Amino acid sequence: MAAPGPVLCLLDVDGTLTTLQQKITKEMDDFLQKLRQQIKIGVVGRLDFEEAQEQLGNAVHVWS
Ligand SMILES: [Mg+2]
Repeated sequence: MAAPGPVLCLLDVDGTLTTLQQKITKEMDDFLQKLRQQIKIGVVGRLDFEEAQEQLGNAVHVWS
């Protein structure tokens, strides 16, 4: 089986990575740090960049 092409995984924040408007748990953060070593990940949601950083920490970056 051929290796798959590049993978981008987009994850919802509130209600998925975190509980509503709360900070990410250490367990989820550890999981995401491992996941991002394997594939590109991004977050989507109704929050703005500052809110994403508040909930997910300084590992959040803006793609341009
Ligand atoms: Mg949600």
